[in-house]
Amino acid sequence: MKLSLIAPCYNEAENVQAFQDAVIEAFSGCGYDYEIIFVDDGSKDATLHNLKKIFKAQKCPVKVISFSRNFGKEAGIYAGLEQASGEYISLIDADLQQRPEIVRNMVQILDDREELDIVAAYQDRRGEGRILSFFKKCFYSIINKLSKVNLQPDASDFRTFRRSVRDSILQMTEYHRFSKGIFAWVGYSTEFIPYTACERHAGASKWNFWKLLNYAIEGIIGYSTAPLRFSVFIGSITAIAAVLYLICVVCEKLFWGIAIPGYATIIVLILLLGSIQLFCIGIIGEYVGRTFEQSKNRPVYIAKEILSYDEK
Ligand code: UDP
Ligand code: MG
Repeated sequence: MKLSLIAPCYNEAENVQAFQDAVIEAFSGCGYDYEIIFVDDGSKDATLHNLKKIFKAQKCPVKVISFSRNFGKEAGIYAGLEQASGEYISLIDADLQQRPEIVRNMVQILDDREELDIVAAYQDRRGEGRILSFFKKCFYSIINKLSKVNLQPDASDFRTFRRSVRDSILQMTEYHRFSKGIFAWVGYSTEFIPYTACERHAGASKWNFWKLLNYAIEGIIGYSTAPLRFSVFIGSITAIAAVLYLICVVCEKLFWGIAIPGYATIIVLILLLGSIQLFCIGIIGEYVGRTFEQSKNRPVYIAKEILSYDEK
């Protein structure tokens, strides 16, 4: 098997058949074998039903993994990687925003250039609003400053890579998966190619601003301990400021006999210090929570069914 295409699907009932057709069209006459691995991520619509129909028809080699509930795209990718038997592996969305023709192109690049391990696509023109673009830019600059890994701005998980990369990713069994970070962390020589995301074939995106914000925090906490250092830093600054202020107050009282100013100062100080403490405890809590989640050692996903064609 030359190529495995992994397509995580969550409520993509209207897209899966169109996706398969697009793949078959894009790869017709390519001269090598390929398989599609659909991962049904606990969809609530007819996705699984449609995937089973596609599986029965086997217009091209198809595997279907269905999850017991929604575990998220990252878990879907992980499950797909485990089942992939291709020499090359490609991650692609099932909503046809990422065209299979580009995958064919990626395979060509990997064939031509032996030194490359990954070909990743980044969006050259984004259809999103300015505010979101701005926040994304901030996110990349923050995470690249704070963490040891270096994330390529706008690089998606739309990429094709060699089997060795897949093996390395599978070794990362962490529960909180952040694929941009995982790819940066495993390394390998990567070529970035621009692509333009198409309109969704049908259905709606599962992302909104809050989900993206949570995802960004996930990335920062998962790939850097700098926030912990930061809380030590602001703790130290406030401690120094407190000591200086204490000296001032004592001197005022002893040498000038000024009464210690009361209510307003105390309220402000209590609120300020209280909020700094809560903020820092919150940061520590994020890390403790992740340690807790990971220490339970739960599987990344639970598959209730894995349908596979006969590989012989
Ligand atoms: N997806 C998934 N599980 C989820 C959310 C999304 O498997 O919990 C899949 C979805 O079906 C699609 C891909 O991940 O194939 C990208 O999702 P979406 O199109 O919503 O994201 P966008 O393209 O808007 O970034
Ligand atoms: Mg999409």
